[in-house]
Amino acid sequence: MINGDSEQLLTEIAEIYRQTFARLDPERRPPVVDVRFYPYIGINHTIRVRQGKVFVRLAEICHDMPMDAQRGLADILIRKILGKRAAPRTAEPYEKYVKSLEIRQRADHSRRTRGRKVVTGTKGAIYDLDEIFDSLNFWYFGGRIARPTLTWSPRKSFHILGHHDSTHDTISISRSLDSDMVPRFVIEYVVFHEMLHIAHPAVHHNGRRYHHTQAFRRDERRFPHFHEAEKWIGQNVGRLKRASKGR
Ligand SMILES: [Zn+2]
Repeated sequence: MINGDSEQLLTEIAEIYRQTFARLDPERRPPVVDVRFYPYIGINHTIRVRQGKVFVRLAEICHDMPMDAQRGLADILIRKILGKRAAPRTAEPYEKYVKSLEIRQRADHSRRTRGRKVVTGTKGAIYDLDEIFDSLNFWYFGGRIARPTLTWSPRKSFHILGHHDSTHDTISISRSLDSDMVPRFVIEYVVFHEMLHIAHPAVHHNGRRYHHTQAFRRDERRFPHFHEAEKWIGQNVGRLKRASKGR
């Protein structure tokens, strides 16, 4: 589940790709570009062209990257598919950002290994994913959903709140939600959404995969706190992020 206020960011980044195509390949009309953040482990991005459409998958960890670094990355990725040589000056803001990320990650890692308690498994500090899954399964699915691997995300993402990985049969929930600032109906809603991905597998149509079908959206609205939860996420995820950075 993607936090809604990020849609605008994705649109802005897609526009950067369109402009970069127009600049690097002026003969052709810029293609339609679909940009998503993916919970890739590490700093990893992919770009590919399918049926004239360009699909860009950016590592979730680069979500807060400044726009000049996004421009640098767009230049690197697009040059790659156009078979053009790299332009060091344009790529620089991105390279710089990655370096700073790596330093920060190393710092995070050493802080963690220096004896701060690491919560593992489904039991978080506040919420237990196993228990939430069981109760949702009982109340809304008649116990029919086979238990996937449930896990908290390794990093506190405020962008991707939940993710279902059908290949590995895993639901991962952002650790940012394991907080006493988050009402239970909100985390239930996010887990419920990911469980619906199990109940409604992706549908293939004209070479595209649709994850949120009409039937999915209809079922999603059966969650009693649907509107409240959507509203809470829209209004509070930013606040949660600021609170977590203050700590
Ligand atoms: Zn979804």
